[in-house]
Amino acid sequence: MTHPTDGTCIFCKIVAGQLPCFKLYEDASTIAFMDINPANAGHALAVAKGHYPTIDATPPEVVAAVAQTAQRVARAVMKTFNPFGLNLVQANGEGAAQSVPHLHVHVIPRQRNDGLALNWQAVPGDRAAIEAAYKQLQTALS
Ligand code: AMP
Repeated sequence: MTHPTDGTCIFCKIVAGQLPCFKLYEDASTIAFMDINPANAGHALAVAKGHYPTIDATPPEVVAAVAQTAQRVARAVMKTFNPFGLNLVQANGEGAAQSVPHLHVHVIPRQRNDGLALNWQAVPGDRAAIEAAYKQLQTALS
């Protein structure tokens, strides 16, 4: 299977075997390996083999394959480490703190009081503002 690649991308180099990784899993369109800067012990990444910078630029079947690999890794993490919780995180763009512009999903086991700033406080939103955003998205989805 051929994939789009970018010679300057660190994940493309890992996919091509030009850089080492702690490889957990691989199939035709995805690869999973340990994150070298783990947010918590067991932090892993499910990565598209093709170079797609963000979710909107990724073919749906590749998104599906990455999601399945993330689930496979998440199951292994849960079974192995029995974490207090687990987050799947997928960042798009600088504003979302994406540092590697190549589609991937973080699989992050959570510890009690680990202080990771992934969660936000649930504050009730303004109904009218929610409805306005809803209407804009409805239009984009139709
Ligand atoms: P993001 O900031 O969401 O784009 O996530 C990119 C992740 O890739 C970060 O958590 C990095 O620690 C991780 N990372 C960067 N280079 C490598 C590498 N060579 N091997 C494994 N993980 C890496």
